[in-house]
Amino acid sequence: MSDTADSDDLFALPGLDHAAPKAGFPPQELFAQVAYEVVHDELLLDGVSRMNLATFCTTWLDDSARRLMNESLDKNIVDKDEYPQTAELEKRCVRMIADLWHAPDAANTLGTSTTGSSEAAMLGGLAAKFRWRARGGSGTPNFVCGPVQVCWEKFARYFDIEIRQIPLRADRLTMHPDDVVAHCDANTIMVVATFGQTFTGLFEDVAGVSAALDRLHAGGGPDIPVHVDAASGGFLAPFTAPEVEWDFRLPRVRSINASGHKTGLAPLGAGWAIWREKSDLPAELIFDVDYLGGSMPTFNLNFSRPGGQVITQYYWFIRLGRTGYTRVQSAIYEVTRHLAEGLSRLGPFEMMHDGRPERGITAVCWRLRGEQGFNLYDLSDRLRGRGWLIAAYPLPEGRENETIMRAVIRHGFTHDMADLLLADVQRCVNQLERHPFSTSLTRAESGGFTHSAKPAVPNA
Ligand SMILES: *Cc1c(COP(=O)(O)O)cnc(C)c1O
Repeated sequence: MSDTADSDDLFALPGLDHAAPKAGFPPQELFAQVAYEVVHDELLLDGVSRMNLATFCTTWLDDSARRLMNESLDKNIVDKDEYPQTAELEKRCVRMIADLWHAPDAANTLGTSTTGSSEAAMLGGLAAKFRWRARGGSGTPNFVCGPVQVCWEKFARYFDIEIRQIPLRADRLTMHPDDVVAHCDANTIMVVATFGQTFTGLFEDVAGVSAALDRLHAGGGPDIPVHVDAASGGFLAPFTAPEVEWDFRLPRVRSINASGHKTGLAPLGAGWAIWREKSDLPAELIFDVDYLGGSMPTFNLNFSRPGGQVITQYYWFIRLGRTGYTRVQSAIYEVTRHLAEGLSRLGPFEMMHDGRPERGITAVCWRLRGEQGFNLYDLSDRLRGRGWLIAAYPLPEGRENETIMRAVIRHGFTHDMADLLLADVQRCVNQLERHPFSTSLTRAESGGFTHSAKPAVPNA
């Protein structure tokens, strides 16, 4: 069909003389290149992903990674017997990550790839629930956490588990270890500590939380495990702040999730859930599938999933190794620090996370220094006009009246881009000071590009 049309001008072809169907199932067919053009052109309005500093996710891939993704488009990761080497690469990634996170027996513990941290978090939470029940737990299970990503609210709702979110204290931006124990009881299946908070990018004090739970147990209280949501921190701190203890070095940490498609550098659709020891993943959650004449354990919410993400994750692991990841992540921190310093120098902003590797992820988080002639929603809106997507949103419960702004700096963001952004921030601030926005602009109108279930809180 397309051959016959090759000599015609694309935009004069039938199918482009009217708008593409949008509601009912399309009654007729289109030439492939016409349909392609329609879809391609509509997506021009999506903006440029590398200028989206609201997301934590990978927006830059090298040519080799793209080639591997392309070559594995047709591979279903669940077909372990049919694609044994894809299954093998997944197993190797699990062992590598377990080793990176100091699992006591990294070669033999259990873990799995997932579609992202959300699925991995749910698997970690479900395992904690099954372990609690095996210990004789009954009644309504609960878990305790600080300000968390929306996946934990989903976990609570979908699986009927009470979420006990500790409100922020006035002087803190993360869960305070001293507040944890008061929220725990015999039905607490786990405490979730976030290593790289969604709101600010800051690391929660996992060691402090763990020590508080040690004291609770030593005093005759329940023995409550910790799950670490290291969605974005899990592939940073091991390389750039190895002295920070947040992983399986803390015996109370029984499971960890991370997003391969965030700081792991893998393409979208890669997450990891790793258990401290085999025995931390209850057998009821494991199903066996055929694998090279034997069987292989699986424990996922999905059945079919693309295999390319895991294949490409493995590529990054062997390509970069510890030295390479350290180099790459350090370079991203340097750009982050450069942006933070530049923003500080502009005057109206106070940094809440300035990108120090031992404090949090490669993100800058700031608020206004006192009253200014504009607010951060206005600034976010202005910056959008130049193509920058930077979220403004309220802090979580306890400090919900404060507005902050956050820029996540990722692989592929250069010093030059940071300088362009700084110049644009300066220009927008000048404009806003000269021509203040109408204050009637609502948050949804000025910052509606976030993807959260809760309006205006960026969870991407
Ligand atoms: C991004 C994120 C998640 C969700 O991860 P996905 O990979 O997007 O499913 C969960 N927790 C935290 C802390 C995150 O930053």
